[in-house]
Amino acid sequence: MSKILMFNWKMNPNSYNDTEKLLSIYKKTSRKNIVIFPPSVFLQQAKESCDQIGIQNISSYDSGAYTSQISAKMAASCGAKYCIIAHSECRETFRDSNTSSTIIKKIEEAYKNNLIPVLCIGYTSSNIDQSDDNVIIEQLKPVLDNFTNKQIYIAYEPIWAIGSGKPAGIDDIENAVKIIKQINNDRNKVSVLYGGSVKSDNIEELSKINGIEGFLIGGASLIEKELTSLLQN
Ligand code: PEP
Repeated sequence: MSKILMFNWKMNPNSYNDTEKLLSIYKKTSRKNIVIFPPSVFLQQAKESCDQIGIQNISSYDSGAYTSQISAKMAASCGAKYCIIAHSECRETFRDSNTSSTIIKKIEEAYKNNLIPVLCIGYTSSNIDQSDDNVIIEQLKPVLDNFTNKQIYIAYEPIWAIGSGKPAGIDDIENAVKIIKQINNDRNKVSVLYGGSVKSDNIEELSKINGIEGFLIGGASLIEKELTSLLQN
């Protein structure tokens, strides 16, 4: 079975027409096991071209006076099957993506609406030498302790690897897989993804890492040449 490829478009592309152009590249592939995370305004448009789509963030609330927020129910009604939770860019910018209690509420909202959560964790320092395993333990343990027998993707994404062109090394990723599995302790159906500067010239090597079931890919998901090549993996 090929690895799952999850494409996080972040705040791109800029328009409906540019989204059509980008989708036309995805439409050419017969590769299964891919998920696109477009900006929410393009969810339905993406759904017309891709079987599996997801939303980049959800509210921890189900409805009400929360201007600008998008609920899990709304995303599901647009065809989303997955939702990213606590991406490091959200952890840095929005307080609500950085507290365990809110992250737990978001995951509960996801399950209530049949969305599969993709929880992002990873070292928070942009300095590789300050990587501290306790950071990922503190991000994951209080959250996972609340769930049993659930399906969840955990995307290991150290900040220093995101968008930097320098992916994490094999030992580093294997160490993260080990910590994640220890914390889960077989309670949930956890699939570990790696994210951070995954590109066509490193995906093959990264695919050999034990315990990695797929990738969360940002920048390369927008570049035609990269994407075409990644979709052949
Ligand atoms: C991401 O946005 O989750 C990501 C991993 O980005 P990039 O692939 O650009 O490093």
